[in-house]
Amino acid sequence: MLDAWTGKISNGNKLHDTKPKNALPLVSKERKEQTIVWVKDAAIGGNEAIVIAGPCSVESREQVVSTALSIKQNGAVMLRGGAYKPRTSPYDFQGLGIEGLQLLREAGDIADLPVVTEVMSEEDVEIVCDYANMLQIGARNMQNFALLKKIAKTDKPILLKRGASATVKEWLSAAEYILHGGNENVVLCERGIKTFDNSLRNTLDLASVALVKEMTHLPVIVDPSHAIGRRSLISAAAKAAIAVGADGVIVEVHPQPEIALSDSQQQLTFQGFAEMMENLQSPLRKILVNRELTVCV
Ligand code: PEP
Ligand code: MN
Repeated sequence: MLDAWTGKISNGNKLHDTKPKNALPLVSKERKEQTIVWVKDAAIGGNEAIVIAGPCSVESREQVVSTALSIKQNGAVMLRGGAYKPRTSPYDFQGLGIEGLQLLREAGDIADLPVVTEVMSEEDVEIVCDYANMLQIGARNMQNFALLKKIAKTDKPILLKRGASATVKEWLSAAEYILHGGNENVVLCERGIKTFDNSLRNTLDLASVALVKEMTHLPVIVDPSHAIGRRSLISAAAKAAIAVGADGVIVEVHPQPEIALSDSQQQLTFQGFAEMMENLQSPLRKILVNRELTVCV
């Protein structure tokens, strides 16, 4: 029987190696203590946790520029925004495509922020590289191996989202593909997984963040927006992500979430984003330390 984790074959009580000891040699912490991924002036995986923010989809110049300026004013280090959108229904807004890339770039330049955006297919890699500072591989494409091989050949840092039904090992194996292909600048992103519970959009797997921080040298960030799907819980979940050891968070922000063309329930208002940034600065709840000695006889 093959043990999926160790890659060893068990034969009765004996184990025989069939692969090198570590099945994930390049992403493993055995190789390196910590990688810092630089996206222009933003360091991900360093001493300080970082915040990336922006709309789910780029919708208009006014929308993305006002968001960029507002998040910059409140301390975000990078602007996000989708131009190519992976929508569940073909009848939903699919993104502005190249026009969206141009508007995102313009907004990033105006606010002096690097930009990250999703690349959905191999044929779009070149054009997305022309406009973006960082390429996002979305949850639905985490195991699109042809796409992983292609973006591994670019010189852009990669934001690799965890597939909604991917195990930690599959997620790290996807990252291993990118490093194996020659690109060492990978940031992992936990964005919620499918479980039996449908109370929220997905289940935010914060324990996996702590686990992956222990297993790999790659930076790990958390996307509470897609994990939770509900505006009121984003700030608390972002704080929990940092508490568990994440190197940062990525959240969706929109000037008028109620009229957003995608993910309107989960996008923060400008005010909501400012409040989240404040909440992230404040200390965690004080722990009562009770050292009173009570002797029971
Ligand atoms: C997104 O970040 O815009 C997105 C679609 O996220 P995910 O791939 O995690 O669903
Ligand atoms: Mn979204």
